[in-house]
Amino acid sequence: METRKVGSHTINIQRFNSVIVGAGAAGMNCAVHLCEFMRDKKVKNPGSRIAVVTRGIGLGASRMSGSDKQTYYKMGTSPDVPDSAVEFSNSLTAAGCCHGDLALAEGINSLREFYHLVQLGVPFPHDSMGSYVGYKTDNDPYERATSAGPKTSRFMSECLQTQAERYGVNIFDGQEVVQLLSIGSGISKRLAGVVTLDRNKSKGSDFTLNVYLCRNLVLAAGGPGELYETTVYPKGQVGIHGLAFEAGLAAENLTESQFGLASIKFRWNVSGTYMQVVPRIFSTDANSSDEQEFLTGFFPTMSKMATNIFLKGYQWPFDPQKIENLQSSLIDVLVFNETQKGRRVYMDFRQNPVPGPSMKSFDLNDLEQEALHYLKNTGAMQPTPIERLAHMNPLAIDIYKENGIDLYTEPLEIAVCAQHNNGGFAVNRWWESNIPGTFIIGEIAGTHGVKRPGGSALNAGQTGGLRAAEYIVNVYGPKPCDYDDKKIEERLRLCVEKLEKLVNSRSPLTPGKVMKDIRRRMTTSAGHIRQPDNAQRALADALSLYRNIESDGFQLDNKADLVDAVLARHLSLASVGYLKAIVTLLSQGSGSRGSHLVLADDGIQIHPDVIDKATGKPLRFKPENTELRSSILRIEYDSSESDLFRTKNVEPRPLPTERKAFEPAWQDYREGKIYSG
Ligand SMILES: Cc1cc2nc3c(=O)[nH]c(=O)nc-3n(C[C@H](O)[C@H](O)[C@H](O)COP(=O)(O)OP(=O)(O)OC[C@H]3O[C@@H](n4cnc5c(N)ncnc54)[C@H](O)[C@@H]3O)c2cc1C
Repeated sequence: METRKVGSHTINIQRFNSVIVGAGAAGMNCAVHLCEFMRDKKVKNPGSRIAVVTRGIGLGASRMSGSDKQTYYKMGTSPDVPDSAVEFSNSLTAAGCCHGDLALAEGINSLREFYHLVQLGVPFPHDSMGSYVGYKTDNDPYERATSAGPKTSRFMSECLQTQAERYGVNIFDGQEVVQLLSIGSGISKRLAGVVTLDRNKSKGSDFTLNVYLCRNLVLAAGGPGELYETTVYPKGQVGIHGLAFEAGLAAENLTESQFGLASIKFRWNVSGTYMQVVPRIFSTDANSSDEQEFLTGFFPTMSKMATNIFLKGYQWPFDPQKIENLQSSLIDVLVFNETQKGRRVYMDFRQNPVPGPSMKSFDLNDLEQEALHYLKNTGAMQPTPIERLAHMNPLAIDIYKENGIDLYTEPLEIAVCAQHNNGGFAVNRWWESNIPGTFIIGEIAGTHGVKRPGGSALNAGQTGGLRAAEYIVNVYGPKPCDYDDKKIEERLRLCVEKLEKLVNSRSPLTPGKVMKDIRRRMTTSAGHIRQPDNAQRALADALSLYRNIESDGFQLDNKADLVDAVLARHLSLASVGYLKAIVTLLSQGSGSRGSHLVLADDGIQIHPDVIDKATGKPLRFKPENTELRSSILRIEYDSSESDLFRTKNVEPRPLPTERKAFEPAWQDYREGKIYSG
């Protein structure tokens, strides 16, 4: 390690072949594959050439998030039902805006990655013949889903970490990324590494910066969880979208965030069996009194209401195309409406749904065929939801118990929460970004289209790590970086100046207040219910906030707050980028799609009794403009633009159809030609 002083600040510099930002399932997998590909090329001690840098090894969605049985979507492994990579990729591209080459790569590499995880010890269940049994998930026409229980992605990250440690990969914990170091310009521009604030050594009057230089940078910092107020992303999952924009990375499909019902005291998705056991759903006032069966007024019969609660289990997340005519996403709208009134909504597993005045009492045998058949098939005909849950999935009860909530004795508070972004930074078929040598994998990559089958995020993250690692080792090679010290020093001086400028005792802004504003604005204007004028106003407000931060900085109590100031600054830029994308897409007449609904006076009625407070008339939404399925909205930071970003529409790349005979394919492989496509 080299140590430098810039002003009064100590800067530690280390050099690697590859630096990975993020220690979730995607980042750790890439580290492991880099070692494996280097080992295959007879590189000694591959782990010493690789660094994983993270703000918290135990943070992020992979380590901290899940659901009743967190899903891993892979190609089918049933002994009877044939599946193919092309069929798999068709499921990924079905709702549009998804590049065909990425979808096909995710299909082709799906089983390789799945068995890689099996080999590393992730306990995916199989039967006595060794067959990995599947089930059906949302947007999944086959039974391609599997699960290792509520904590699938946690097991994945832990098993991968253990393997990375065996290889001797350097893991740097407690590192808050403050800048992606860019050098050069135009086509010779590269990202030479990252600068971090050491969270453990940045208290008091000084801060310590660490610099991780590399030939290849892999960004695996996850989704932008901290952008939202109502969110099921785990606390502390920030992402680095603002920093990536500033560094010149282009993003795609940022408009396609997913929202769904989740518990909020302990952040966890309530999909799958939590809904399939058909619990009572009720609301109270803010003080937990005045219980009301608020759903009952909107459904004609108990059977219809209870069946929709059941269907919400795998028709998840919120989907505007499943609202009309009493479908399951009407439940999300009604829950949201209730919370908008200042009321609190709960699921109660101790009781079956309670009927409204003109309804029959709940009876499992009155459920519609699909629900009744499923519950009978799984032997879940017990009298109460908690008994059905204990029968079908006791781990789903345990996970709440571990986190201080006893579903046997208390109801579970829920809301419609931000939970995933299908969009992110743009990549080619090797998961390389628009800046050569920088790769984007996992949730921060924009590889999904408008809709994705549940569980395909984890598959995409594994495939991305594999593809990036293969390309890095075979094309850029295993050598460490050798940048010109002067150029790096110059960039570091600018970085220190920027950090110092961020602190200003006369500024009216504090990081805490700014983050609160950003989150409220994003949840209100960029959530699952959108409206063009509202989004436009939110963009103007977000821009003005970012400009104020740039000119005035923050007032800080002590230097420990510097980390928060850095976060608030880059989240603020990220929120401008997201809102700009949303405003642009709305102006193109996109309508309601994916997991968001666009309100419109002349649109489709949600339900005669879901009323717009402003007009007193039923709320209506604009249907999807399906023409835009073949157009991906791409966005790049550009400080010369009036609202800091420029956008353009690109066509999704088609599914590659070239198939070669074995001998020519073998020759391409031997000669490394496979990396030039
Ligand atoms: C409640 C919930 C349920 C889900 N269920 C499913 C499911 O069933 N199936 C499925 O496929 N997907 C699911 N997802 C999505 C999936 O879990 C995530 O997309 C995936 O785990 C992301 O993995 P990742 O490695 O890309 O990022 P993460 O696991 O989020 O890791 C990000 C890493 O980057 C680090 N980091 C973040 N910001 C910074 C920063 N500023 N500086 C330094 N380091 C930083 C973090 O500390 C962490 O190490 C779910 C998500 C949620 C929230």
